[in-house]
Amino acid sequence: MANLQILLRQHVGAPCAPVVKAGDRVEKGTLIATPTGLGANIFSSAYGVVEDVLEDRIIIKPDEEQKDEYVKIPEGSKLDMVKAAGVVGMGGAGFPTGVKLGTDLQGGYILVNAAECEPGLRHNIQQLEDDCAKVIRGVKHCMEISNASKAIFAIKKKNEKAVKALREALKDEEAITIHLLPDIYPMGEERAVVRECLGIELNTTQLPSAANAIVCNVETLARVAEAIEERKPCFSKNLTVIGKINGGNEPHVFMDVPVGTSVGEMIERAGGIDGVYGEIIMGGPFTGHATTEDAPITKTTGGIIVTIDFPDLHGASVGLLVCACGGSEERMRDICQKMNGVVKSVARCKQAIENKPGAPLKCERPGNCPGQAKNNIQFKKDGCEYIIIGNCSDCSNTVMGSAPKMGLKVFHQTDHVMRTIGHPLYRYLRVSKQVEQLPEGK
Ligand code: SF4
Repeated sequence: MANLQILLRQHVGAPCAPVVKAGDRVEKGTLIATPTGLGANIFSSAYGVVEDVLEDRIIIKPDEEQKDEYVKIPEGSKLDMVKAAGVVGMGGAGFPTGVKLGTDLQGGYILVNAAECEPGLRHNIQQLEDDCAKVIRGVKHCMEISNASKAIFAIKKKNEKAVKALREALKDEEAITIHLLPDIYPMGEERAVVRECLGIELNTTQLPSAANAIVCNVETLARVAEAIEERKPCFSKNLTVIGKINGGNEPHVFMDVPVGTSVGEMIERAGGIDGVYGEIIMGGPFTGHATTEDAPITKTTGGIIVTIDFPDLHGASVGLLVCACGGSEERMRDICQKMNGVVKSVARCKQAIENKPGAPLKCERPGNCPGQAKNNIQFKKDGCEYIIIGNCSDCSNTVMGSAPKMGLKVFHQTDHVMRTIGHPLYRYLRVSKQVEQLPEGK
């Protein structure tokens, strides 16, 4: 087993402070770092020895032999146990769950985010197919902690096996229901979940608590159940590895991967990289970022994607259309550079709002397009030959309503991933063409 690199920042808030030093012996579940403000406890994910404590991470050399047993968190109230276990939003957001559940909902809702919206990822759906009972127990614990009287699973209708498992498990549960979502992106955005389940539109500064709701991801709820029922610290992660992997492009789901394991080790466990590749993405095709094989898994890592090579634009002029639910401008510039394009113009979807300078963009109405023709006119005026868009399904549809007529060739930032995994490209919403039918940049 290779060294584990456990990052000190795996959550929203400040990095944790180490409470171990080089040479210390640790067990699975030993507390190794604690919050310095908003944050969550961090634990060793293996038996071994602390090899080094760096500014941003703790390196652990694991023993050859590993046991299943772990150091248990202290008993306490349910909320205290969720806090002690260091559970965070494991769908990618990383907000400390113990802080979120501190909200008194007084009869409100726990909304279960089971949208698994990023194409290619399927570990949350598999969790529901294989063991939805644990997630339901997590929901009930959260209802009790926050005084919620109802809960709703928000899941895409296309996940028939998981929906069937949930229906069966919930048939005698009057307070917990299922809301079926359409298969468009983004349905997993927190405010989109609130809108779809409760019919309440929140603005970009409002949290779900404004709708008397708390939104929790599937895996987060399973970790809540483990913290309360098994006194288990949060030191492992479920994730999907997919892409240009030996043996094919089907998703490989791994449950309970020790936090700190390297991306490269997970790719090897899936079969290894199949020949030449474009990039490795940590996270999903829309909101993930380029990573390297030596980067470590954290509590928020949901996907590892190995992509095919990028098309070569031979230095052509490119416009970037940045959205709130896709890559940041920095990520889109990275993709443009990997495609050998030159950024000539940058525009933003008009619903993508910066709540304060430098903050991540938030969408005013996730998935409902405000129209993109004006941005296409800007790109044309600025002399762009190609545009790279990061838009949601609905907006990609409207980009295609005008861009090709203006002679702009369109790439979506997810194209290289979609081509790798055999998923339809993000173009026309209702007449989405299959990968092999669509020439590049059309
Ligand atoms: S409406 Fe605009 S900002 Fe919102 S998700 Fe769609 S493209 Fe992104």
